[in-house]
Amino acid sequence: MRDEIIYVQKGPPSLPEMTGPEVEERLKVTRVLLLPFGATESHGAHLPLGTDTFEARENCRRAALQLEESGCPVVIGPVIPFGMSSFHMGFTGTISISATTFIALTKEICISLYHGGFRKFAFVHGHDGNLPGMMVAAQEIVDATPDAEVMVLNWLTALSKVYHTIQTSKKMEGHGGEGETSRILVTHPELVHLDLAVKHHVEPEAMRKIQGPEHIKTGGGIFYATRSYKTHTPYGHIGDPTLASEDKGNRAYDVIAEWIARVIARDYFNQPDLDVASDRTEP
Ligand SMILES: [Zn+2]
Repeated sequence: MRDEIIYVQKGPPSLPEMTGPEVEERLKVTRVLLLPFGATESHGAHLPLGTDTFEARENCRRAALQLEESGCPVVIGPVIPFGMSSFHMGFTGTISISATTFIALTKEICISLYHGGFRKFAFVHGHDGNLPGMMVAAQEIVDATPDAEVMVLNWLTALSKVYHTIQTSKKMEGHGGEGETSRILVTHPELVHLDLAVKHHVEPEAMRKIQGPEHIKTGGGIFYATRSYKTHTPYGHIGDPTLASEDKGNRAYDVIAEWIARVIARDYFNQPDLDVASDRTEP
């Protein structure tokens, strides 16, 4: 154990890092809050347990910067570090809260912020297991208020469409694999242990039910409830993290953040033609 800086967090500051008066100032120009939903769960020996929490915040951070540049100011809410992670409970360090707790927590956070002046909420996940709870909470917040608006943003669908242009692996990469490891290399390289990364792929038939084009979370129409990851992997992750690179992580984050920013600009700022980097670089 050493007394040292273990990683650096880039701005803009999220709500817990702002003062009350700073939030009040911000409320004069926006009522929109991006809420990042993380998890504390096993991602193999090479990634920290807070991987999804770090990703959720980075998704919001990058989207917020793009939105600001396009004249659509937002505030980033506190990142929620716990989620519905029952299927990772076979691995040490995982924390899982029930759907009931998750929904109550989300509602109470948003209703508090609603009283503070926020009106439009955009929920951004870093762990797709939270999506059903996020959707129920969104509906209940709308039901409980006269004018709150809540949207749940599942960027996985947008990323899945182009992921083959980013990843090297010819197999389906999953939880803690090439993609996620690349994204943590961007934000928290100090916490990635590539020397401990091992390749572990799952049979395509089993993988199809974890993710893939037919699964509802990646753009399909079927929801498969997930069996314990222990039945799929002895390590906690699926895929080949040895292929990870910071460049692939940055490219994936660009796709995610642009999609989030486009939807928020269109639906919360009435700006259908958001000027984003990919438009400017397309041939
Ligand atoms: Zn993850």
